[in-house]
Amino acid sequence: MEKIKLGKTNLYVNRIGFGGIPIQRVCQSDVNEIILVLLKEGINFIDTARGYTVSEAFLGEALKGVRDKFIIATKSMSRDYNSMKEDILKSLENLKTDYIDIYQLHNVKSEEEYKRIMQNDGAYKALLEAKDEGKIHHIGITSHNLDFLESKIDLENFPFSTIQVPYNIVEEKAESLFKKAVSKNIGTIVMKPLAGGSIDNKKLAIKFLLSKDFVNVLIPGMGSVGEVLENVSVKGEKLSLSELEEIKKIREDLGQNFCRRCGYCLPCTKGIDIPNCFMFEGYYNRYGLREWALSRYNKLSVKASECIECKKCMKRCPYNLNIIEKLKKVVETLER
Ligand code: SF4
Ligand code: SF4
Repeated sequence: MEKIKLGKTNLYVNRIGFGGIPIQRVCQSDVNEIILVLLKEGINFIDTARGYTVSEAFLGEALKGVRDKFIIATKSMSRDYNSMKEDILKSLENLKTDYIDIYQLHNVKSEEEYKRIMQNDGAYKALLEAKDEGKIHHIGITSHNLDFLESKIDLENFPFSTIQVPYNIVEEKAESLFKKAVSKNIGTIVMKPLAGGSIDNKKLAIKFLLSKDFVNVLIPGMGSVGEVLENVSVKGEKLSLSELEEIKKIREDLGQNFCRRCGYCLPCTKGIDIPNCFMFEGYYNRYGLREWALSRYNKLSVKASECIECKKCMKRCPYNLNIIEKLKKVVETLER
């Protein structure tokens, strides 16, 4: 399978990569089997995170003896020096490797967080040190806040080798950001290629992304050999007229009722973390990550059931989502 260079990293990746969220719901032997199939099918890019519970550790065990055949990207939510240093060591231990190809700052949402990361005692310093020591080879950043990342990518010395943001049939806002990244030779990684599981026609969603030359690698989550084989069967050919029609229909169907996690609805009068409520509900129902979704949801200090239906969030949602009704589904799912 053809491999392309990921920005300036000198890493050559198959454009279909492996997203490591769903393996949290399977067992070690399933992951071992998946890794063997990835190897056979030529998928060589694996993305995981410190926050994906057992994902790093499962991968580390399964990659024994074949680690050098893969490019591993992981990420951490740490924002300060000490905790990032600890997280890098923990990732190395979990992944049973002495280097990680790309270590990413996970979901940097705002200028405030960015400033914290870049301070003298911030997480970026720990990443730079780890890079100097050869523990990590490249530093990346992931975000759901495209406006924030777009404001940074214009910097003359943008300090990251890769960016990872959501992009798919129904979330196309990242196009200009990706094009800027490519013009600066920064690697582009697509998260949420299936819109968090909202797009049923997986093959079409992947084909759509392969048709975009500013996408270096996309990372659909895969939790079984069947899913791997289904994804690798997609060829990067031109979209046919009937496929373009179907894409239009998917946009019409999902366009009005799909949370893009843009955060414009915030702050909620009661402090409800609206986009994360929707994400956890989606992971529970669509990905079957029940324990994970419940444990994350239970950590939220304000629950969806505390909504007083003031409608302030709904006036701010650019997609006119009926947030109040959607929060009721969250309550039904996660607060039963
Ligand atoms: S309607 Fe509910 S979720 Fe929206 S701002 Fe008011 S309290 Fe928050
Ligand atoms: S509910 Fe609307 S405004 Fe809030 S994150 Fe989702 S899409 Fe954005």
